[in-house]
Amino acid sequence: MTEERRANMVLLGPPGAGKGTQAALLVKAYGLLHISTGDMLREAVSEGGPTGGELSSYMNTGKLVPDAIVTRTVIERMAKRDAEGGVILDGYPRTRPQAESLDSSLDASGRTLDVVLYFKTQDEVAIQRLSGRRVCKDCGKNYHITNMSSKKEGVCDICGGELYQREDDKPETVKNRLTVYEENTKDLIEYYRTKGLLQEVDGGLPAGELFNNIDALFKKDGLI
Ligand code: ADP
Ligand code: ZN
Repeated sequence: MTEERRANMVLLGPPGAGKGTQAALLVKAYGLLHISTGDMLREAVSEGGPTGGELSSYMNTGKLVPDAIVTRTVIERMAKRDAEGGVILDGYPRTRPQAESLDSSLDASGRTLDVVLYFKTQDEVAIQRLSGRRVCKDCGKNYHITNMSSKKEGVCDICGGELYQREDDKPETVKNRLTVYEENTKDLIEYYRTKGLLQEVDGGLPAGELFNNIDALFKKDGLI
C-alpha cells in the first residue's frame, strides 16, 4: 500500500511574487490546505472586533503585524482537522522568530516542513503586479487591470461582485511593503537554506509556466 504524501510547504517571496496565484493552483492540483495570513488578517479586520482596528493600522501602512498575533492565528488554524493532509503556508513565516515558532509547533504535533519555495522576483515586476491588482469584494478572486483582466471592467467573472483596489496596493504602501520584506527576509532565507529546505523558483514567470516548473520540481523530489 502506498502511503499518501502529506507535504507541508512554505511560500516565501516579496508581495507581488504571485504566491497567492500559485497557492490556488497547488490546492487544485494536490488538495492541500491553503493558509494565507494576509487573507486571515483581512478577514479578522472585516469582522470588526477588538483587534480589528489595531490590525488594519499595521496592514494599511505596510507594516508587519506583531509576531505573537500572527503566530497564534496560524497555529490555531493548523490545529484543525483539515490541516492534517498538508498545508501551504502563504505569507507566513515572514520573520525569523515566526520561523522558529513554526518549527516548534510542527515538532510538537509530529509534523515536518518539507519544502520552502522561494519566489525570487524583481522589484519592478512586483510593483507592476501590485499596482494593477484588483480583488473581488465578494469572492476574493484576484485580477490585474492588464495582465489578467476581468471580462467586464470592475466586475468579477466568477460571481459578478465588485472589484476594488486593496488599500495597501496603493503606490506609497507598496514601496514600504517591499522595504519591510527586504529587511526581514535575508535572515529567513539563510535559515531555510541552512536547513536544506530552500528551493528557488522564478516569480517573474507567467503563472502557468511557473506552476509547471514547481510541479516538475515536486515530482523530481518525490514530494507529491
Ligand atoms: P503581501 O504578501 O502581498 O504583502 P499579504 O496579503 O500576505 O500581502 O499581507 C498583507 C499584510 O498583512 C502585510 O503587509 C502585514 O501587515 C500583514 N501580514 C500578513 N502576514 C504576516 C506575517 N506573517 N507577519 C506579520 N504581518 C503579516
Ligand atoms: Zn467574485
